[in-house]
Amino acid sequence: MSRTATLRSSPAIAIVGAGIVGAAIAYALCRRGAHVTLIDRAEPGRGCSYGNAGALSPGSVAPLALPGLARTLPRLLLDRESPLHVPVGYLPRALPWLLRFVAASRPDRVEAIAERLAAVNADAIEHHVALAREIGALDLIRRTGHLHVYPDEAALAKDAFAWSLRERHGVRVERLDRAGLEALEPGLSPRYAVGMWLPEHAAVVNPFRYVQQIVRAFVVRGGRLVRDQVRAIEPDLPRGWTVATGEGRQNVDHVIVAAGVHSGALLEPLGMRLPVESQRGYHVTFRGVASPVSRVVVLADRKAFVTPMEQGFRIAGTVEFGGLARPANPRRSALLARFAREAFADVAGAEESHWMGHRPCTPESVPLVGPVASRQGLWIATGHGHLGLTQSVNTARLLADAILEGSPLLTPAIA
Ligand SMILES: Cc1cc2nc3c(=O)[nH]c(=O)nc-3n(C[C@H](O)[C@H](O)[C@H](O)COP(=O)(O)OP(=O)(O)OC[C@H]3O[C@@H](n4cnc5c(N)ncnc54)[C@H](O)[C@@H]3O)c2cc1C
Repeated sequence: MSRTATLRSSPAIAIVGAGIVGAAIAYALCRRGAHVTLIDRAEPGRGCSYGNAGALSPGSVAPLALPGLARTLPRLLLDRESPLHVPVGYLPRALPWLLRFVAASRPDRVEAIAERLAAVNADAIEHHVALAREIGALDLIRRTGHLHVYPDEAALAKDAFAWSLRERHGVRVERLDRAGLEALEPGLSPRYAVGMWLPEHAAVVNPFRYVQQIVRAFVVRGGRLVRDQVRAIEPDLPRGWTVATGEGRQNVDHVIVAAGVHSGALLEPLGMRLPVESQRGYHVTFRGVASPVSRVVVLADRKAFVTPMEQGFRIAGTVEFGGLARPANPRRSALLARFAREAFADVAGAEESHWMGHRPCTPESVPLVGPVASRQGLWIATGHGHLGLTQSVNTARLLADAILEGSPLLTPAIA
């Protein structure tokens, strides 16, 4: 594809990474007339986007780092069953990121971060539904709400700040007692006595198939999918970029780096250091039994999401630091399987598959979406952390508006 042959209204764009973020961006740009090449070294959707909990949670405006974190973090790090785990050997590597994470928990910063998350999440479900309708994937989206369950009032009270933050941002939330929980989810363990019900939330019942269908629709619209490793991204002076893969070198007007947790490695040779750390998350998918839940149920005391999926049901969660090289820790996913068995009586006998994925996380919980300062034509879309599925469609809209129409982004240029 020749960059000089393209018009400004239909620029040549290469996107690195065909996870949910890159796939959504590729489709949005292609349907608006850009010449898009989507490059992934693996099958689209096989990265972090493969195994998430499928929750569409636009009401998640509370960042991970909340006031009081500095006090609770040491205890969380030492408790083997805590949802957060850092192997001792990895602590020095994680420390700079963790210090920024703690700094982000200051009350004034949390309020500002919540504003930004609310903007990135706005109308995400309506936008997913519109996309799914357009690509023939409406069957994947269920608008059945989310139910967060707690053992008792004291446990719920610990999350009071996050709930008030959500309510202040207009998220519809109803408080339920045990009878209310049973009315929605009769199979729920008596361990849970109170809950918070978000009737307007939704889920994708097969996140991997969702990515694949978006990519298929992109190709049908004339987009080019390349299965190759991107080895380098280099400036092609006076303007534009060269993307080097095993297949050769391609010149384009714009490059978008949407390679999830691997984005930093691609940008380092250009002198950039992204504040993105992998938060390794796990899932266990149970097949061969009926799902014990009919909507997303969040076991708030376990920080785990339980979702009915096309292929059975899934429990997903935990935050483990440890980088990209260490193998998955089977003890983390076994813990999730145990939580599922404790919460639902009928899980026995199900076939289990265990998985680990790398969430690309910024210390502030806000994704990095936008142009790179003083590098015209270079864009970043990563750092979506725990909300990449939810935020993918809005990320795609924002970037398409910015690249094709010059609209301002929500975030300043990334230095
Ligand atoms: C356990 C768990 C549960 C989660 N639950 C939810 C949830 O319920 N709701 C929600 O909104 N989010 C959830 N998330 C978060 C969400 O899954 C992620 O934020 C999202 O998948 C990130 O997408 P991505 O496209 O940025 O990255 P990925 O899906 O990791 O995609 C990056 C792609 O880049 C490719 N790549 C990397 N380097 C190169 C290279 N050099 N050349 C070519 N290709 C390259 C990789 O092969 C990969 O396919 C969860 C995550 C986990 C782990």
